[in-house]
Amino acid sequence: MALKNIESKAVDNFRKYLQIPTVHPNIDYEKCVQFLQVQAQELNLPSTVYFAASNKPLVIITWIGQNPQLQSLLLHSHMDVVPVYAEQWNYEPFSAHKDEVGNIYARGAQDMKCVGIQYLETIRLYLKENLTFDRTIHISFSPDEEIGGKLGMKHFVETDEFKALNVGFTLDEGMASPDDVFPVFNGEKTLWHFYIRSRGSPGHASLFHDNTAAEKLMYVVNKMMDWRAGEKAKVSAGVDVGRVTSINMTMLDGGCQFNVVPSELSAGFDIRISPELDERAVLDTLHRWCREAGDGVRVEFIEKNVQAKPTKLDDSNPWWVKFKTEFDKMDLKLKTSIAPGAGDSRYIRQIGIPALGFSPMANTPVLLHDHNEYLNENIFLKGIQIYYNIIKSLASV
Ligand code: ZN
Repeated sequence: MALKNIESKAVDNFRKYLQIPTVHPNIDYEKCVQFLQVQAQELNLPSTVYFAASNKPLVIITWIGQNPQLQSLLLHSHMDVVPVYAEQWNYEPFSAHKDEVGNIYARGAQDMKCVGIQYLETIRLYLKENLTFDRTIHISFSPDEEIGGKLGMKHFVETDEFKALNVGFTLDEGMASPDDVFPVFNGEKTLWHFYIRSRGSPGHASLFHDNTAAEKLMYVVNKMMDWRAGEKAKVSAGVDVGRVTSINMTMLDGGCQFNVVPSELSAGFDIRISPELDERAVLDTLHRWCREAGDGVRVEFIEKNVQAKPTKLDDSNPWWVKFKTEFDKMDLKLKTSIAPGAGDSRYIRQIGIPALGFSPMANTPVLLHDHNEYLNENIFLKGIQIYYNIIKSLASV
């Protein structure tokens, strides 16, 4: 009966958290912060709120370990969720409706309010059982992950407040999987957004001008498309998508009128560099293609993430060894890979702290950012059991 009560409390908390619409754009995080502060009070744990800007709170709940000088364990999640097309949903997306088979529908059910509550409920179980651990555990809730985390984790990892947490290892979000194999991410691709800007001779469009912006831009665009074709072929040949570089032309700018040859044209790209490529080599190649295209062609970066080394998955990483051992003990299957997207843990890895991306959602369709996002309550509760074993083990590394 006691377990049943704890379970229904956990599901209640999950649904309450989902009912707070921390949805982009222009999120008001206040209710969310209040909710988390109440959670901390109930656990009798201290919480602090760090602000990178007035409306960008980052909440940290701390459970001090028996040996607080040891490096701490950071259990990370983000509070924000992506927008919805409400008319495409079977239930109101912030109602957290639970249907007759226990599926809980809400934006954030998979990405990633489930994980935030699972961390808290795991700690609640330890406290109920009067367990103690050597290492301090911090549970962090960040803003704005879904829009790049500039005033969230990207900013926070650079602060003295973060350094004071003395983090040795981090758990962050993973992904659902439709079968019984849990995806675990140990790295991510390096995201770059940039324009290739090409300046050339303008003039009347009835004439053959030399040195046009379009000819030079096309030289680089074709190089990029050839590169893309090669990477795409690797995926078709079965190479894991985490190990290839994705390249997409996503923006085109320039021109004012059909009969005017423009003086500048630009193509915008989204590329995500595989950890198997060196970012400096990629940059050199881009500059070389621009030089080869001719004068007046350049790269202009809009977003240039720093390449982070993947977290090691061998015996040199005691955190990984514990994680894997607990998985094996539970007789659960996992598959490690490089994450297809880029989340908050990239900022943690960039400063050299190992991190694994893991959300315990096996046998669940992947509905992150999709319509009718849901998580089944039994999968959610099973996730708490999984975290129970893993976090216990990590907190005593
Ligand atoms: Zn997420």
